[in-house]
Amino acid sequence: MAGRDEKSRRMELRRASGTRLSPEPPPLTLVRSPAYRAAHACFGCRLSFKLICDPTLEPDVEHRCPGCGGALHRMGRNFAAPKKTNRDQWRKVEILWKAGFRFDSFRSFPDAEPLPATLGEVEDFVRRNPDHPLRKGVPRGG
Ligand SMILES: [Zn+2]
Repeated sequence: MAGRDEKSRRMELRRASGTRLSPEPPPLTLVRSPAYRAAHACFGCRLSFKLICDPTLEPDVEHRCPGCGGALHRMGRNFAAPKKTNRDQWRKVEILWKAGFRFDSFRSFPDAEPLPATLGEVEDFVRRNPDHPLRKGVPRGG
């Protein structure tokens, strides 16, 4: 019977004759798409969705909230949605977002002031941090 050796010998012959190409090794530099999944939130419905977005675009391509049909806001990779019932926390993240803050990783900015924990702190925080590294969105009114 044609064993493994015979099979690989025939494969070698096919490769040598050029009818069968050797598998190419994968390229060493991976071209990474900038698109990734990030949390998008609807402040009105207090809902958050992980959606594909392109971080190089600001404003983001428009995503619509399935709850109310309003625009969803791209929050950033590190955004953790508050509980739906926690209106103060939702109000806090809405104020931060509208001031231009995005919930991305802090690791590159060890000296940056952490985002405020409570709604009561948020206004002072925004005032104190006009040049905060996470304040990279376009501030919106409202
Ligand atoms: Zn909504």
